[in-house]
Amino acid sequence: MAAEGGHAVVTGGAGFLGSHLCECLLRKGYRVSCLDSFATGTPRNVARLESRPGFRLVQHDVTDPFPDVGRAALVLHLASAASPKDYARLPIETLRAGAIGTANALEFAGRHGARFVLTSTSEVYGDPLEHPQRETYWGNVNPIGPRSVYDEAKRYAEALTMAHHRQYGADVGIARIFNTYGPRMRADDGRMIPNFITQALAGEPLTVAGTGRQTRSVCYVDDTVAGLLALAESTVPGPVNIGNPHELSVRHIADEIRALSGSRSPVTSIPGAVDDPRRRCPDISVALSLLGWQPEVTLREGLRRTIDWFAAERGAAA
Ligand code: NAD
Ligand code: UDP
Repeated sequence: MAAEGGHAVVTGGAGFLGSHLCECLLRKGYRVSCLDSFATGTPRNVARLESRPGFRLVQHDVTDPFPDVGRAALVLHLASAASPKDYARLPIETLRAGAIGTANALEFAGRHGARFVLTSTSEVYGDPLEHPQRETYWGNVNPIGPRSVYDEAKRYAEALTMAHHRQYGADVGIARIFNTYGPRMRADDGRMIPNFITQALAGEPLTVAGTGRQTRSVCYVDDTVAGLLALAESTVPGPVNIGNPHELSVRHIADEIRALSGSRSPVTSIPGAVDDPRRRCPDISVALSLLGWQPEVTLREGLRRTIDWFAAERGAAA
């Protein structure tokens, strides 16, 4: 188990989730080394942490051998493109981050006897045929479709993590994260929530893909980070679903954002994405029973905070 207050290495720490995680770890008394290539993240996300004692930002691509950042108690491996638009643009890089990057991160953790936490994804369930998705479900993934570079990289990363656990007794935890949203998502990362908020604030049409009846279960970033930390500070190998079980249609989420932002934008239909999962909803009973974790922030509250942040960013850029 990771010693509280030890040295945590966060790969992908300058991304959306990673920057919130670094902040939370510092608050809990960890020293934090953030390794990031800035492929989809930016140093701006952690700029206000740089003056904090115990925080270090290192530009590093995880597909290269890890630099000597000192003895670590915890390695949290987040480095990977995560939005469908990003991994469509970076297909080989995404496969390499999941495969070679995960191998390097596991090797680094093993050398330090550190606990290793992999941020896997609900995408390992693909277009699921079971609802809600429990960790025992093996998934329904198209291995050669446009999403496969992400889905299969994460499935390989999970397999590699479990192989290290079984073969070397590595201390590991696998989190299967479901759609998470909040401040510091990139306005142009192509994901549903930043797209809808940016469109609503600009008075442009909200682009709902396909019928809009496909579902997602969206979790506010503070809740996801709390779940990741609970897993990191446990000895649970997982996999453990970390997500909000409140399942909603994409159209409903668009309507909610439009209403909460006081926008008069119309909602328009665009072609559906290839291999787009039709339903997604986590069963979180494992997280609740083994980690005592469940999300606390309501959709309205989470969306309000996120809309406020995007509005402030727009104001600052104007
Ligand atoms: P993000 O794109 O904001 O962050 C990813 C970070 O990894 C970026 O800072 C990027 O520069 C960095 N990175 C990418 N390739 C790298 C490489 N080769 N070497 C070093 N750094 C690299 O995405 P996010 O939403 O913050 O996702 C973070 C992690 O959580 C990802 O592993 C993702 O698969 C996982 N996850 C996220 C969600 C979600 O809804 N946000 C859901 C499931 C899983
Ligand atoms: N989506 C949408 N409009 C957009 C962007 C996405 O309707 O402008 C849809 C997308 O087709 C999917 C859902 O919203 O059905 C969630 O997409 P996102 O890219 O946020 O995450 P995913 O869960 O697909 O990884």
